[in-house]
Amino acid sequence: MEHVIRNARLRGRDGLWQVGLDGGNVAAIAAELPAGGDETDAGGRLVTESFVDCHIHLDKCHTGSQLAPAGTEMLQEAVERTWEMKRNYRIPEILERAGRAIDDGLRYGTTAVRTFGDVDTIGGLTPVKALLELREKYSGTVDIQVCAFPQEAIVRDPGTEDLLAEAMKLGADVVGGMPWFELSDEDSRRHVDICFEIAKRFDKPIHMLCDDTDDPMSRTLEYLALKTLREGYAGRVASSHNGALSSYDHYHAARVIELCREAGVAIVSNPQISLVIDGRLDQPPVRRGITRVRELVEAGVLVASAQDDIDDPYYPFGKPDQLEVASFMAHTAQLTKPYELELVYDMVTVNPGKIMQLDGFPLEEGGRANVVVVDAEDVHEAIRLQPARLAVFRGGRKVAGS
Ligand SMILES: [Zn+2]
Repeated sequence: MEHVIRNARLRGRDGLWQVGLDGGNVAAIAAELPAGGDETDAGGRLVTESFVDCHIHLDKCHTGSQLAPAGTEMLQEAVERTWEMKRNYRIPEILERAGRAIDDGLRYGTTAVRTFGDVDTIGGLTPVKALLELREKYSGTVDIQVCAFPQEAIVRDPGTEDLLAEAMKLGADVVGGMPWFELSDEDSRRHVDICFEIAKRFDKPIHMLCDDTDDPMSRTLEYLALKTLREGYAGRVASSHNGALSSYDHYHAARVIELCREAGVAIVSNPQISLVIDGRLDQPPVRRGITRVRELVEAGVLVASAQDDIDDPYYPFGKPDQLEVASFMAHTAQLTKPYELELVYDMVTVNPGKIMQLDGFPLEEGGRANVVVVDAEDVHEAIRLQPARLAVFRGGRKVAGS
């Protein structure tokens, strides 16, 4: 055994365990294991699969200090405040900012990230090129997937369709989408169709931002699910935000949720940014901007939770800690019972791991050794206290902690 983690408390098992890592994988989980190469004593603390953040905008992170003060603090304004910045993007400065977020996330146990990079006629392909370099730079420590993301939409930003295809040619891993941001329902559907054309051409998965609005007429998740079903793309499509689903009447919402389940569309909710940016036109009581997490889960839809933003025009806060994300999710979706907290923990580990089609999620014998030692007794305490991460392993190699 190359490395043994001693005295580990594991999810779903009583007592203390020894976790043997070898050849990049979890080679054994046993009550006793002989002394091997290196050892880490977990000292009875929680050992789980590491954290996965499947939706974050690393091209924009840490830009808050460059910005003029906000006015409305609504999404449209955030989009426009980014334009000037985007025109001045340079690859080295994006790399520096994004690298800082990756390093911080690694200390909090995040070993896999799906980062969105804007693709549009303002910043061109600079963000994607920078993030592809980032992927290369961190290939030994973090699994980075780059999603080519048409932030300014596609139909309303002529030229973006070609740029998206170009981004995929450069090596982007995922085709992004922003269909609800088009100017008509017809254009929104065209947007989804274009993304599928490109994804199929390059044989890549799709991750869109759908219905990130309180407007009950926004119905792009419904069309995305239908398209996924028709194209046989089950298990390769994720949709983030979907806030409008909470504004639909219950009958229509139930139909869309069932369609997502049938189509195999995964849902990603980013509670922190939604709490800040959505519901801005509401008079009290103000909506939370959070999709119908509980109903989606109960229907059997795969649901994950992600950070989304770190100090940028959309969200002024942001700590790249998936345990903080889990805490926000537990609060906003009112998931508080012990089995619900396990589910919330899955939303920042196992479920985004499945969305990114990564090996090692969940932590089990034979799987890739992506492991975090959390200074907590159990998942409840981990979410409650968000304590230190004592050690972090990626592919069996210690990448953070002592
Ligand atoms: Zn986002």
